[in-house]
Amino acid sequence: MDFGLDGKVAIVAAASKGLGKAVAFEFAKEKMKVVICARTKETLEAAAEEIKNKTESEVEFVVADVRVAEDIKKVVRHAIDLFGTVHVMVNNAGGPPAGYFMDFKDEDWYNAFTLNFMSAVRFIREVLPYMQKQKWGRIINITSLSVKQPLDNLILSNSIRLAIIGMAKTLSNQIGEYNITINNVCPGITLTARVKSLAEIKSKELNIPIDKVYDTWIKEIPVRRLGKPEDLAALITFLASERAGFITGTTIQVDGGQIKFVL
Ligand code: NAP
Repeated sequence: MDFGLDGKVAIVAAASKGLGKAVAFEFAKEKMKVVICARTKETLEAAAEEIKNKTESEVEFVVADVRVAEDIKKVVRHAIDLFGTVHVMVNNAGGPPAGYFMDFKDEDWYNAFTLNFMSAVRFIREVLPYMQKQKWGRIINITSLSVKQPLDNLILSNSIRLAIIGMAKTLSNQIGEYNITINNVCPGITLTARVKSLAEIKSKELNIPIDKVYDTWIKEIPVRRLGKPEDLAALITFLASERAGFITGTTIQVDGGQIKFVL
């Protein structure tokens, strides 16, 4: 299938590792020009180099913290200075801390809001004028299966990420006429550094081998395996493509069937 992405410009936020990096890699394989960001220069630079070497596409990086408004402007400015526009924006960030309602103070709620909601709002605000001008754009927000099936100890994620869904659906009504789509994707349990460290914590907590932790999780997943970052990246690449121009305002899970509800 021709995705029509050759030469298009993408920003992938929080992309030195895990899901973001897998997306940047898929985009580079499609010969897109890609700008990635994260906070740690060493891993970010290494990721950009690795993707560039494997794909021979243009992959640039900007050290940035997506919680900081000025850093977001810096990332978009860099993409514009280098490539003249942005066609595809993938919003991603680290996850908020796990915990229960009484574990968190106001500050924790505001932090989660800044990290997982305002980062997307700010990126979209910066890239939208370019997308409107060229009458072409794709915005994809990485959220979590928790927006469809809340996970008990992730109250910050369950709450704040739902704001993205409301924002995206509303915005889809207002930008469709410019041939700009916006969609949300919800990863299920996908084997990244973050998930490996969560598994290690569980294994110590329960005093069981790590494989047993994975087995417990896999039992909940109808396709009987954990997700791979490439599983999510494949959907995002399709949503970014020319072929997905009639898909907007949706929230799609990539979870091996783990969510038990119909919608
Ligand atoms: P990961 O492997 O830990 O990678 C996170 C990436 O985000 C790294 O590149 C990290 O680099 C960057 N990052 C973190 N905080 C940042 C910040 N403030 N500013 C800029 N970059 C930042 O995590 P992942 O598994 O890919 O998860 C990505 C997102 O998907 C998270 O929000 C997570 O909660 C969500 N999610 C993941 C899963 C899963 O199973 N993997 C499931 C549902 C939802 P630096 O630390 O150097 O900044």
